[in-house]
Amino acid sequence: MNRIHLSKAEITEVEEEFVLDALRSGWIAPLGPHVDAFEHEIAERCGVAGALALSSGTAALHLALLHAAAAPGTTVVVPTMTFAATANAVAYTGADLAFVDSREDDGNVEPRLLLRAIDELRAEGRDVVAAIPVDLFGRCADYPILEEGLAARGVALVEDAAEALGASLDGRPAGCFGIAAALSFNGNKIMTTSGGGMLLSDDTDLLSRARYLSTQARQPVPWYEHTDIGFNYRMSNILAALGRGQLQRLDGMIQRRREIRQMYVDGLAGLDGVRVLGRGWPRDDRDDNCWLTSVVVDPETWGVGADAIVSALSAQNIEARHLWKPMHLQPVFAGASRHLTGASEKLFRQGVNLPSGASLTDADIDRVLSTFRNCLEGARWPHRSTHV
Ligand SMILES: *Cc1c(COP(=O)(O)O)cnc(C)c1O
Repeated sequence: MNRIHLSKAEITEVEEEFVLDALRSGWIAPLGPHVDAFEHEIAERCGVAGALALSSGTAALHLALLHAAAAPGTTVVVPTMTFAATANAVAYTGADLAFVDSREDDGNVEPRLLLRAIDELRAEGRDVVAAIPVDLFGRCADYPILEEGLAARGVALVEDAAEALGASLDGRPAGCFGIAAALSFNGNKIMTTSGGGMLLSDDTDLLSRARYLSTQARQPVPWYEHTDIGFNYRMSNILAALGRGQLQRLDGMIQRRREIRQMYVDGLAGLDGVRVLGRGWPRDDRDDNCWLTSVVVDPETWGVGADAIVSALSAQNIEARHLWKPMHLQPVFAGASRHLTGASEKLFRQGVNLPSGASLTDADIDRVLSTFRNCLEGARWPHRSTHV
């Protein structure tokens, strides 16, 4: 039985040709024409003035936060349901973290709770400088409320669009919100450079300062002169070439992930107590990039949680995954402030990410669906296996 991966990269001759071109051009040293072109193409796609290609999405978040003056003695507000990289980037700056709970319908940060958290933190005397909404699993956060509320409070909005390239909200592309946004091209994201990321912004000062910091903060003199601590965060020309090949095929890959989403929606339609995260109210998922499809299973209907489902799928050589374990439950962030409703913990206990990669076949998705159904039905009627 073939292994069904969660979100495997799909590489074709298009990417091979781009990478060969980079290798043969002699631009093996970091930077080069593919980096410049890749930045230009992504900036255009995301509707921003400029972009900076980096070694990771985490590096992009870090540089954006430095621009927002995140530093020891300040606080940055982050959704609790996210990948650790969002919170790690804050920790690199020395700022304190405050975690905010999710909306139950789509798992994204609860925007009004986030704004209330800022007011509470300020009432305690904390200096809140930034908030990082995350576009969870390829669906934009609730920017209309967040943009207005953060602007009114003078708090910088940094968009973590690592999972959301190609998604949009009311016609505005993911990556265009806030003072800056971070994209990730890690191996299992919607498109990959095998490892890499990008910082997007309309603020050319922000981008040029980040560019300077990302190349070891070298002063423009003939020798190596430094007045700041810099980072080695740039993307190489070879990886940018891979990214340009992937970008040419991005729309097709998103289209396939959307088809897979629809197959899951149709295949699960008759099951009570099972929902696809982010589907339906308050808006449909047509504008999501459908990076990962997540299903949430009501334990009272089925008597089964995410653990059991992930292991049942794994036993059939299918890679499924828990939703992100909330950051406020992570030992490393035990000291951080938290603003909770219980929604993220519930989603973590009940939610599973199903295989969603663009290279999966219809037969693969059928196999996932039947294994998933068998797992639920086996859990609901355990007497079938023990007493029949
Ligand atoms: C993948 C991811 C990142 C980090 O990107 P890297 O390129 O792996 O550093 C940040 N935030 C979220 C939400 C992610 O999913």
